[in-house]
Amino acid sequence: MYDIIIIGAGPAGLTAAIYARRAQKSVLLIEKSTFGGQMTFSPKIENYPGISKISGSELADGMVSQAIEQGAELELDEVVEVTVGGAPDYIKTVKCTGGVYTGRALIIAAGARHRMLGVPNEEKFIGDGISYCAVCDGAFYIGKTVAVIGGGNSALQEALLLSDTCKKVIVVQNLSCLTGEVKLQQQLYQRDNIEVITETVVKSIIGDDKFEGIVTERVSDGTTKEHFVDGMFVAIGLVPENDPYKNVARLDERGYIVADETCATGTPGVFAAGDCRTKGVRQITTATADGAVAALAACRFIDELSAVSV
Ligand SMILES: Cc1cc2nc3c(=O)[nH]c(=O)nc-3n(C[C@H](O)[C@H](O)[C@H](O)COP(=O)(O)OP(=O)(O)OC[C@H]3O[C@@H](n4cnc5c(N)ncnc54)[C@H](O)[C@@H]3O)c2cc1C
Repeated sequence: MYDIIIIGAGPAGLTAAIYARRAQKSVLLIEKSTFGGQMTFSPKIENYPGISKISGSELADGMVSQAIEQGAELELDEVVEVTVGGAPDYIKTVKCTGGVYTGRALIIAAGARHRMLGVPNEEKFIGDGISYCAVCDGAFYIGKTVAVIGGGNSALQEALLLSDTCKKVIVVQNLSCLTGEVKLQQQLYQRDNIEVITETVVKSIIGDDKFEGIVTERVSDGTTKEHFVDGMFVAIGLVPENDPYKNVARLDERGYIVADETCATGTPGVFAAGDCRTKGVRQITTATADGAVAALAACRFIDELSAVSV
């Protein structure tokens, strides 16, 4: 049995692993896909204190190496269900597709995934015209024209990265203005090959067997327009993936785990850290802060249980 099981190896889970190991707890960190989490999709991170500019994958590599150096065990597996036993030990059982693990405390740091547009044929063209990651797929569109959907930080970062190599980038935003950082907006408006269309949504995809473009609709009057683009990058926010935890933590109406700045869920020894929990700001800094808070709270929980049982 592990002292602490951490689900998700994004910045929240990795920081939790580093802090828990430094407190000499045994740690199992379970990740279902990419060690490093969402930040591995980010071409350039410029708001992580102490490092003026770094690629997301480089920052992720540093955090993963540090967690391994500290002695955390890493497992590539997908958590499908979690249960918590009764008093006095509240043993946590974490069921994965490849095995079952038990722990004294649990930190859920499962983050969130890309939201889809919800237009017909979207699923069909993923990876073949539609992408959610410019870092991963931008190279397929060198010299071509692409659309980026969204107007927040992620969308602006994607548009800037793509404009380095694409002929043209069309940014389609549903609101009347962009909502990403002013500095990113300024960079965007300096680029000759980026066109910004506001108050407009994607209504449908052009093409039956091959992605050929998108039809947009102006929110104010319903006017539609065809855009023949080679690819579409969707960056319209995130949705949590917290279904496996609904037996052990309360989820809000949007599916986020209800937990405050202490990261406590209300279930003894179960904590939620990072983007998967209810919070106002979802960033690397806030995820790492949660990781530290949750790890120390989990250590305290284990130490108090041990003190009672002596
Ligand atoms: C394109 C892009 C650019 C961004 N740029 C910036 C930026 O410049 N600055 C900034 O501060 N933030 C940025 N962000 C946001 C930042 O990356 C996130 O806020 C941060 O990664 C959240 O960390 P997290 O650890 O909570 O979750 P995540 O990074 O989402 O990590 C959660 C991990 O849990 C895993 N997981 C989920 N479910 C399971 C399961 N059932 N079993 C096992 N593993 C599971 C996931 O695979 C994932 O690896 C960006 C995000 C994106 C997508």
